[in-house]
Amino acid sequence: MQRLIFDEEHEMFRDAVRRFMQSEIKPNVEQWREQGLCDPAAFLKAGEQGLLCMWADEKYGGAGIEDFRFEQIVIEETIRHGDIGLFLSLHSRLVGRYIGHLGSEELKTRLLPKCISGETILGIAMTEPNAGSDLAGMKSRAVRDGDDWLLNGSKTFISNGINGGAFVVAARTVPDESHGIGLFVVEAGMAGFSRGRNLKKMGLKTQDTAELFFENVRIPAANVLGDPHRGFYNLMHHLGEERLISAAQEIAHAGAAFDLTMDYILERRVFGRPIAAFQNTRFKMAEMRTSLDILQTFIDQCVLLHNQGELSASLAAEAKLQASELESIVMDNCVQLHGGSGYMSEYRISHMFTDARVSRIYAGSSEIMKEIIARSIGLDERKLTGSQ
Ligand SMILES: Cc1cc2nc3c(=O)[nH]c(=O)nc-3n(C[C@H](O)[C@H](O)[C@H](O)COP(=O)(O)OP(=O)(O)OC[C@H]3O[C@@H](n4cnc5c(N)ncnc54)[C@H](O)[C@@H]3O)c2cc1C
Repeated sequence: MQRLIFDEEHEMFRDAVRRFMQSEIKPNVEQWREQGLCDPAAFLKAGEQGLLCMWADEKYGGAGIEDFRFEQIVIEETIRHGDIGLFLSLHSRLVGRYIGHLGSEELKTRLLPKCISGETILGIAMTEPNAGSDLAGMKSRAVRDGDDWLLNGSKTFISNGINGGAFVVAARTVPDESHGIGLFVVEAGMAGFSRGRNLKKMGLKTQDTAELFFENVRIPAANVLGDPHRGFYNLMHHLGEERLISAAQEIAHAGAAFDLTMDYILERRVFGRPIAAFQNTRFKMAEMRTSLDILQTFIDQCVLLHNQGELSASLAAEAKLQASELESIVMDNCVQLHGGSGYMSEYRISHMFTDARVSRIYAGSSEIMKEIIARSIGLDERKLTGSQ
């Protein structure tokens, strides 16, 4: 389907990103998968190519590009021609934007140039062993000490956790208030900050996911992001974009699996004919194509709304919910159409299947997306039951 949201400038950019992914990223993916994380040099190369924190102001070395379509293109080409586990957008947008929007001038001047070049890789640490979906339940604490803050606690499942050089960390700053949370930038080398092992996962093998530990980590005032008591609201504000990024990733991943499967079904012959000739195959492919095209149109519309600052939390949740659910259906169908080969590690579809499983869990699970959407249509459980 022709997509109407891109113009010539976008398409030229897409060509350049595609060539970069094919030549600099794709050849390394197998090795990264085996070692369980990507080489940090990948970020340096992406930085050289101008693909990191493109939104950042020119005075920090950025390109000052606010148009989200350029990030969407990076997402799509990374997945199609590189690997879904290379979390460039988590670095650039999910985390970098907190620093850009809420950081002190001192922090931005010191950190942003290194984020743009890829020298410092970013991560965000919200989840704790007992606080994932229920972020307000977090136990990590930050206590003011003069101009500084002292941070204690631990986080888990943190993406870029091993390669990361700086993390936005959420911690409780008001003991008895569930939403009394602050956001702090913790940098590698700060005394009291340590990391656990690279957690072994079902999929996303090129992506490092780790535990982080904080023991009396002294955070200077310059590393506090915004009002230290309103971090929860700042998180909520940025989570809309996180969901749009997830949706863009998931539909791109599903689309790539569809194309891979198209090649396979035309080539593989059984009972003297290509698998593509069976009615079941043709109908499955037709169903998937239809669902992908309809959802892509919706996500593209969300991107345009986001560019205008008008993407609501519930629309972003709809995009994320639908994209992650469709991605799972497409992956399952595509493995099925590959037969036994689809279960073999040497076929890319087998990795795509396991890589996709997390989409319905992280960046807000499908159940949490449904809660957000239900509330937006007037079905708030708390109001309906009179509970808090
Ligand atoms: C590979 C990977 C990378 C990640 N990267 C990061 C990262 O970089 N930074 C970070 O902070 N976190 C990260 N996470 C954590 C992720 O965001 C959480 O795993 C996710 O929010 C779910 O939280 P949980 O694991 O505690 O599950 P739980 O909250 O315990 O949920 C368990 C189940 O209960 C359901 N559930 C929970 N609440 C409700 C409800 N109110 N109604 C109905 N059902 C509900 C959930 O949907 C889920 O099905 C990552 C996770 C993974 C797996």
